[in-house]
Amino acid sequence: MTNAKVFLVGAGPGDPGLITVKGLRCLQQAQVVVYDRLLDPSLLQSVSPQAEQVFVGKARGRQALTQEQINQLLVDRAKAGKTVVRLKGGDPFVFGRGGEEALALVQHGIPFEVVPGVTSAIAAAAYAGIPVTHRRVATCFTVVSGSEDPSKPESVIPWDVLARTGGTLVVLMGWNALENILRTLGQQGMAADTPVALVQWGTWPQQRTVIGALNVVASKGREAGLEPPVLAIIGPVVRLREQLQWFAAEAKRPLAGKKVLITRSRTQTSRLRALLEEQGAVPLELPSIEVAPLEDYTQMDATLARLGSFGWAIFASANAVDAVFARLELMRKDARAFGACQVGAIGPATAEALARRGIRADFIPQRSVSEAVVAELSSRQWSGVPVLLPAADIGRDVLAQGLSRLGAQVEWQPAYRTVTPAGAGEEARELLSQGVDVITFASSSTVRNLLALLDGDKAALGGSFIACIGPTTAATARELGLPVGLVADEASVEGLVDALVKHFSNDKIPPSPFIKGGLRDSSLS
Ligand code: SAH
Repeated sequence: MTNAKVFLVGAGPGDPGLITVKGLRCLQQAQVVVYDRLLDPSLLQSVSPQAEQVFVGKARGRQALTQEQINQLLVDRAKAGKTVVRLKGGDPFVFGRGGEEALALVQHGIPFEVVPGVTSAIAAAAYAGIPVTHRRVATCFTVVSGSEDPSKPESVIPWDVLARTGGTLVVLMGWNALENILRTLGQQGMAADTPVALVQWGTWPQQRTVIGALNVVASKGREAGLEPPVLAIIGPVVRLREQLQWFAAEAKRPLAGKKVLITRSRTQTSRLRALLEEQGAVPLELPSIEVAPLEDYTQMDATLARLGSFGWAIFASANAVDAVFARLELMRKDARAFGACQVGAIGPATAEALARRGIRADFIPQRSVSEAVVAELSSRQWSGVPVLLPAADIGRDVLAQGLSRLGAQVEWQPAYRTVTPAGAGEEARELLSQGVDVITFASSSTVRNLLALLDGDKAALGGSFIACIGPTTAATARELGLPVGLVADEASVEGLVDALVKHFSNDKIPPSPFIKGGLRDSSLS
C-alpha cells in the first residue's frame, strides 16, 4: 500500500510544453494514468510502458465514463496500491470536476496531491496575444462557465453583475449558448461594442481566433466555422491583441486579412495577386496603368526592320517584349529577325516573355534597378556598339545614359504607351475610402498615375502603408511627397511580397490610438 496515492495533475491547455515540471515527473512515475480528451498525445509518451493507461473520455462507439465511474476507478486503483495520475486538461480545479474527484478520494481515505496546471482561461488568451489583466484596462478577470444557458430559469450565474465588472470576462464551455450569453450581457448593460475574442484550440498548432464586437462576434465565429474547444474573452484587453499577437502558429501568415492595393497594369497583376493571396492578404486591384498601342508605328517598324544590325537589344519589361513581337508578327517576321543581335532582359518576367518566343536572354542583371544594370554591364566592351532599348513611352533614361557613357550608340525605342483607364479616378477614391492597409507600387509610373488619378490629393491615400518594388520607384514616391514604408530588397513581385511578409511579421503595425493615450508608458513605468 506504500505507493497508493492519486495525483490530480493539470496537463495545461494543449501545448505540451505547458505542463509543469512536477506534473511531468508524476507522469513518468505513474503506474496508472487516467486521462480524457483534449490532451496532446506526446504527453503520454513520458508514461512508462509498464503503466496502465485508461482513457475515460468519449470514444468511437463508447460513451465517456460517468463521473461516478471515474471516481470509482481512481479509488479502486489506489486501493490496489498503485500510484495513479489523474491527468486533466488545463488546471484540475478550473471546471475540471477535480474537486469532486478529490472529495471522493477523501471519502475513501486515499492520500492525494494536486498539481495545478496552466488553465486555458489564461493561456488561450495569452497565446492569442491578450493579457487577461492590464493596468488601467482591466484590473480583474472572471472565469465563468457558459454551460448554463442564461435564458433558462434555473441559471444561477449573476450575468447582471458580470456585465458590470469593467474587467475581463472569460467564458469556458460557452459555445452552444454563446449568442444567449452575449445578448444577456448586452441587456445587462455591457456596451455593444465591447471587444470579444473567440479562441479555438488555444495554444495548439491549429489555434484560431475570431475578434468582433459583443453584438456580432457570435455570428462571425459561426461563419468562420469555429467549433469547440472554444473560449470567449470579453473586455477591452482584447484590443491589445492588435499589438501583442505573437504566437507563430497563428501569426504564420502575417499578411492575413490585410487589404493590399495592387497598382500594376491589368496584364501584370495576376502573379502579385496570387502571391499575396498565398500569404492570406486580400488583394485589391487598381489598374492605375494600362498598356496601349502606340499611335504611330512608322518609326518603330523602321527600327525593327534593321533589328539584326544592332549589337544588343535590351528589353526593360515584358510589355516591351510583347509589343516588339506583336509588330514583328505583323511584319511576318519572327525571332530570327534578331540575327546576331545579343539580347538582354531586365527582370525575370522579361526573360520569361523572351523565352516564350524562343529567345534565351544573353544577359539578365542580378538586380533590376537601372543603376545596378549599368554597373553590371560596364565590364563589357561597349565602344561603338549599337544598342536598342525598347521600352514604354515614358520612362527613365538612366540605362540609356549609362550605356552612352560606356560608349554605346543607344537608340531608345518607345514600344507601347501607358495610359490611365477611364473611370479609374472614381474607382480609386472609392477603394481608398473603404480603408486600405498597404499600397504597393511596382514602378515609378504607377506612383505618378495613382496621384494623377487622385488629382494629386495625397490625403486620399488615408495613411496607408506604402511598399515600393525598388529604389527607383521609392525615389519617385518620395519626390512626390509620399512616405515610403518599405522598399523590396529584390525588385520583383516576389521580392515585394517577401518584404511585406518580413515587415509585418516584425510586428511593426503602428500602435492604435487606444494604446497611444498613455497606456504604453504607464505599463513600462
Ligand atoms: N480545466 C480546464 C477547463 C475545462 S472546461 C482548464 O483549466 O482549461 C472545458 C472548456 O475549457 C472547453 O469547453 C473550452 O471552453 C475550454 N478550453 C479548454 N481548453 C481549451 C483550449 N485549448 N482552447 C480553447 N478553449 C479551451
